[in-house]
Amino acid sequence: MSIQTNLHQVLTTLPTDTRLVAISKTMTEETVMQAYNAGQRLFGENKVQEIIEKQPHLPKDIEWHFVGHLQRNKVKFIAPFVSMIHAVDSLRLLKEINKQAERNERIIHCLLQFHIADESTKFGLDMAEAEELLNELNKEQLPHIRLCGVMGMATFTEDHTQVRKEFKQLRTYFDYLKNTYFKDDDAFKEISMGMSGDYLIALEEGATIVRIGSTIFGERNY
Ligand SMILES: *Cc1c(COP(=O)(O)O)cnc(C)c1O
Repeated sequence: MSIQTNLHQVLTTLPTDTRLVAISKTMTEETVMQAYNAGQRLFGENKVQEIIEKQPHLPKDIEWHFVGHLQRNKVKFIAPFVSMIHAVDSLRLLKEINKQAERNERIIHCLLQFHIADESTKFGLDMAEAEELLNELNKEQLPHIRLCGVMGMATFTEDHTQVRKEFKQLRTYFDYLKNTYFKDDDAFKEISMGMSGDYLIALEEGATIVRIGSTIFGERNY
């Protein structure tokens, strides 16, 4: 099946206010252009080296999200163009994003990544860490970042009950933070969850952003 067909099939399953980040990691610029020509404008990558190699060769009206683990010393490379960083898990990283966004006279949207999976390898905060971060953040002025919500990755498993439970958990975290810290902040509204294998469950559990790669582009060859 073509990328265009895959893309449209995914889009038909999404509620109109849910956004699709097409995860183009390992895909060539030509492949990205097939999705672009089918109308997709929002793309995501998880490696700094790869996104900075691709971005200059692709149309300027693409909105780029960075969805992978981000090291502080690499923020400067993506700050000139990235619109959202999904996997923020420390105040130090947030401060560096603010600093680099300021240098570029931009505002970068950020999501707090939560650890929801039953796997120790996945990055992210627990609620105590998130609250500590937000309480510290209250004392700072970081005008060049905007916290827009939460992000999480479920356990890689066929067990849908488990995956649903983890997405529900992330939703609960979001609701709590919204009510406690962001009640009057309309920007804090995003729940980024769901990948090719589990996005239908994520949608049922309230995802506002899904991050889908292989269902659109086909299997990746590393
Ligand atoms: C690769 C990746 C995805 C998309 O994975 P698929 O299973 O190909 O849809 C989503 N989120 C993150 C953080 C990723 O690294």
